[in-house]
Amino acid sequence: MPKDELAPILTEFDLWSERLTPECNLALFRDGSNTVLFDVGSGPDFIPTAGTIVDSLDGLGIAPEDVTHVVSTHAHPDHIWGLLDEFDDPLFYEAAYMMGRTEWDYWWNPETVNSIGDARAAFAVGAKRRMEAIEDAVMLFKDGDEILPGIVALASPGHTPGHMAFEVRQGSQAALIVGDAIGNHHVAFRKPSWKSGSDQDATTAVETRKMLFDRLTSEKILVIGFHLPGGGLGWVDRNGDSYRFVEA
Ligand SMILES: [Zn+2]
Repeated sequence: MPKDELAPILTEFDLWSERLTPECNLALFRDGSNTVLFDVGSGPDFIPTAGTIVDSLDGLGIAPEDVTHVVSTHAHPDHIWGLLDEFDDPLFYEAAYMMGRTEWDYWWNPETVNSIGDARAAFAVGAKRRMEAIEDAVMLFKDGDEILPGIVALASPGHTPGHMAFEVRQGSQAALIVGDAIGNHHVAFRKPSWKSGSDQDATTAVETRKMLFDRLTSEKILVIGFHLPGGGLGWVDRNGDSYRFVEA
């Protein structure tokens, strides 16, 4: 990223260029019959500050067995490693598991651990281990599928090959769960065309990001981002080719 253009963004958002400490927010959708969790977080093995999903759900009066569906945006560690409990069994043992077919096929492929590069090889090993635990029960879907009443999958590749976003509608209200396709509230919003090292295919990720911003602003719908601040819920304001995240 051009340092001279990056500097004012770092200043504006009070960021340190050496390290970012983003929030990790799981989205929960309840419509009276289904209790749907989007991603499961990393569990306690990934970073010391993570692994609070059971307590967080308990705060809402939800036990792990109350979750009816677990829907994946993608299979990165902070999104899927929390799938297993300390006995290596699925934590949400009553839930149906759902993942985009392209994402599933990518991480299931035994060649991926060799082709993905050293920096992400552990991602591949960790994803496969979680996926093996749900292999017999997982439901795979594709772009445009209404996977549950009011929830439509939207292909949003780049961050990972099969990353999925989800449009959720209930009555006149709508929200777009974007996962990591819009990965932060600073550089990704201010400079959506800049390539990010956290995206596996950064060029495709730029196209996806622009598509999502277009949709979020033209349809004026709520955005729910995994690594966005304030719990991850907000609105997107457009200013030319640049955007602003407004916490809901
Ligand atoms: Zn993430």
